[in-house]
Amino acid sequence: MIGSRRRRLLWLVPAAVVLSLGVATLSRYQGILRPVRIASGSMAEQFLGPHRVVDCGECGFKFRCGLDVEAPLQQATCPNCGFQRNDLSKAMLREGDRVVIDRWAYLFRDPQRGDVVAFVDPTNASELAVKRIVGLPQETVTIRRGELFINGSLHRKSLVETKALATLVHDDRFRPRSEQQLPSRWVSEDLESGWTEASNGYRWEAKDKPAGYSDWLMYRHWRCYTSPNPRTDESPVADNDAYNQGLSRQLCEVTDLLLSCDVELAEDGEVALLIHDGRESFTVVISAKSRWLDVRRGEEPFAQAALPNRNSSQTAIQLAVIDEQLLLAIGDATVIRQAYTPLDRPLQPTSRPLGIAGRRGAGSVTNIRVYRDIYYLNAFRGDWAWDGPNPLSDGCYLVLGDNSALSNDSRHWATPGLCRKMLVGKVLLPRR
Ligand SMILES: [Zn+2]
Repeated sequence: MIGSRRRRLLWLVPAAVVLSLGVATLSRYQGILRPVRIASGSMAEQFLGPHRVVDCGECGFKFRCGLDVEAPLQQATCPNCGFQRNDLSKAMLREGDRVVIDRWAYLFRDPQRGDVVAFVDPTNASELAVKRIVGLPQETVTIRRGELFINGSLHRKSLVETKALATLVHDDRFRPRSEQQLPSRWVSEDLESGWTEASNGYRWEAKDKPAGYSDWLMYRHWRCYTSPNPRTDESPVADNDAYNQGLSRQLCEVTDLLLSCDVELAEDGEVALLIHDGRESFTVVISAKSRWLDVRRGEEPFAQAALPNRNSSQTAIQLAVIDEQLLLAIGDATVIRQAYTPLDRPLQPTSRPLGIAGRRGAGSVTNIRVYRDIYYLNAFRGDWAWDGPNPLSDGCYLVLGDNSALSNDSRHWATPGLCRKMLVGKVLLPRR
């Protein structure tokens, strides 16, 4: 089997030219590792095809726009502040990522879910393609409302998987320098709020308030995609992707979100973080005094964890409601990962799904970023459900592109399962 794979790869060398769908070879080197260049945006943002790098003229946020679909008028909308007149013709042009295929990755082990693999494109044998494995042999894979189901059960991603697929929604470090008076994204409605703006974030000092009072700073989401409506109209987070500037399609609301920030507390400081999953909210109270994390679902206790001891007074926190589970990480260590059954009520996405509250003492919250989960689209984008083969055959895998709106993958093929013999190897992350 190894011999036949080697013969096939040798045949691929002269056939490899600039490829339209997946990857193009960079050299004639044939060994364990094979360098290639990504030629399309179907795996953006982890693997980029040819693209332009845009520095937003208003907020300074840097984002990438693929060349797969040209944007009309050569203008790009900033995903961070919604400024629509970034001139694409002046943006820096970059080639696709250089990556390496590890051709021996699967000699002694089977491919795993989440692996990014290169394979011979089943729709065009002269090309290689790169996608992510989401379904394993004998599994039944379905998509429902943007989520992935394996054998009928929702696939709950770990924090590492979540971050690999997440899209940035807002980075508070980049605030618009607009002549228009744009409203703030993190806002307190309390006229006597103890929150003040600080470098890279906000700091608060508890004022004379009753015990248990929470001084909330709430996140308000704007519509940060091309639209005739004012960008500052509040709306729930959607699955728009700045990489696909030229693509016109109906967007889907996303309620699986991740909040990332750095918290610094005074000795007696206490802060709360709030996250809403479209039906209900979860609150995490972090106390410097007790060194304790206390999570509530609505008003009810949900989970607890000790705050790890650290040398630094600053704590990097990531809080997510993703795939019907709550994830809480300190630094890169997941301290709470707890699944739950959503409330039996209709989904009502809110434009204010996140909050940060000062509760006691003093402290600061900086480097605040909001991410959304991947939203898998069905093959033809018109319906919310897609059913894969039932089940996948022995030795066959279901592969999807991370950029669901652009990707030509298992969802579109006559035979969705990808046979193992078509695999060329595992693709290693690019170095940029
Ligand atoms: Zn911007």
